[in-house]
Amino acid sequence: MLQIDLISIFPDYLTPLKLSLLGKAQDKGIVSIDIHDLREQTNDVHHSVDDTPYGGGAGMVMTAAPWGDAIDAITNDQELVDLIILTPAGKKFDQQMAADFSKKYHLVFACGRYEGIDARVGEFYSSKSNFKVHEVSIGDYVLGGGEVAAMVIIEATTRLIPGVLGNPDSLTEESHSISGNNDSLLVEYPNYTKPSNWRGLEVPEVLLSGNHGEIAKWRKAQAERRTQQLNKE
Ligand code: SAM
Repeated sequence: MLQIDLISIFPDYLTPLKLSLLGKAQDKGIVSIDIHDLREQTNDVHHSVDDTPYGGGAGMVMTAAPWGDAIDAITNDQELVDLIILTPAGKKFDQQMAADFSKKYHLVFACGRYEGIDARVGEFYSSKSNFKVHEVSIGDYVLGGGEVAAMVIIEATTRLIPGVLGNPDSLTEESHSISGNNDSLLVEYPNYTKPSNWRGLEVPEVLLSGNHGEIAKWRKAQAERRTQQLNKE
């Protein structure tokens, strides 16, 4: 079973993680997801988790102490932990990273806010032998917080775990998993369903032919065409 913990100052932001396929995966005991409020690790009346940046500048930085206490409270030295710190300055998330995360035991997501988390949190856990720290971005833009980014990563990761999808064949011919020429990865071909004519638009005839060889050839060509188009834009 994959254990996932998320730490955030907005735990309610993460309630969609209980829904849909992911909710079912938790009911089946394939994945366990626990959400933690960072402010529970504070002792002052205001439950503050941020302070002004050393060196000056705009905005506030999340202090290291509550993060360290929150991470320590949900991990132990006997287990392997992958700590994922969400940041727009991190390595770009992709399908390969999702596949790697889907094989882990314990993922801890640190959802930042303000100007991000004191850099010593990542540095400290990187120095621990049972921790692997990943600074991850979901794209070249800046969100208000790491919660949405964590949900993107969790959704892409958990659907790769056996038993999470109703039909595991859905994973075999997907965008970013289909091999093209020279080991490049293709996006998926276009999909159609009934009726065969909708507002005067016909489904490509080959898909109605029942000829599986021809259908496979057409789909491969379409996947290549779409991928080339994307790479041109
Ligand atoms: N000052 C930071 C910078 O320029 O790199 C941006 C901080 S952002 C306003 C607040 C938090 O949102 C970050 O700490 C991170 O957790 C999250 N975040 C924002 N954009 C993100 C992205 N593209 N990928 C992952 N997390 C992101």
